[in-house]
Amino acid sequence: MKIKRILLAATAAFATLSGLAAGNDVKVIAHRGYWTAPGSAQNSIDALAKAAKAGCYGSEFDVWMTSDSVLVVNHDGWINGYNVQVTPSEIICAQKLENGETVPTLEQYFQEAQKYPNLRLICEMKFPDSKYQEVKLAQKMCELAKKYNVEDRIDYITFSRDGMYSIKKFAHPGAEIYYLTGDFIPEQLKYMGAGGADYGIWIFQKHPEWIKQIQDLGMKVNVWTVDDEAGMKWCIDHGVDFITTNQPERFMELQKTYKPASK
Ligand code: MG
Repeated sequence: MKIKRILLAATAAFATLSGLAAGNDVKVIAHRGYWTAPGSAQNSIDALAKAAKAGCYGSEFDVWMTSDSVLVVNHDGWINGYNVQVTPSEIICAQKLENGETVPTLEQYFQEAQKYPNLRLICEMKFPDSKYQEVKLAQKMCELAKKYNVEDRIDYITFSRDGMYSIKKFAHPGAEIYYLTGDFIPEQLKYMGAGGADYGIWIFQKHPEWIKQIQDLGMKVNVWTVDDEAGMKWCIDHGVDFITTNQPERFMELQKTYKPASK
């Protein structure tokens, strides 16, 4: 049995090394947590825990601010007929998710994250109604990251160019902020001080040359939301830094055996 275990370990190590040697070292980020795992739900505490337990590099989540300025984790701006931004946290945080949990606050999310120190936190700032609220949301988000001591393993993402500047103002020195909208070329991202591009796969497939250009400028490339095998292989073949997916374990399995096509 011992020999069998050694052989299995050696095989796994070889598979990993051969994958890495071939450039197959794309890091996987669970989109809205690993919510496709049984019993989970998007942006739930459970989805964060399952992303960590599955061995994901990172877990992505979305942050809104309620009318009484409490930061909550939810994808949409509405839940069960309530507009998150104009509704008090007492009501929003009582709303049930599909797995029976209630909508978590960002504080609860960060508290759970304490259990998984190796998990990268990919924190998306959503779209406040006003620029004033956007600045406030950015400030509170960064303050909570500091309070819960996750600054060294948090990356921020946003569709808002102004939001990027707000996060930059309040985040810890060296914080990486990735831009999501896909409408800026690599040089513009660099000029804005972005950590990189976090663009939809269709944008990079239209502009595959941007991947190397972004990397040559010292930034990173994240691609969303890559759930199908063809898309996963395309990302590996093109040497992106991260993929964001609803199927993190499927990607990790593929990564063990897939040899990238030579460019
Ligand atoms: Mg998101």
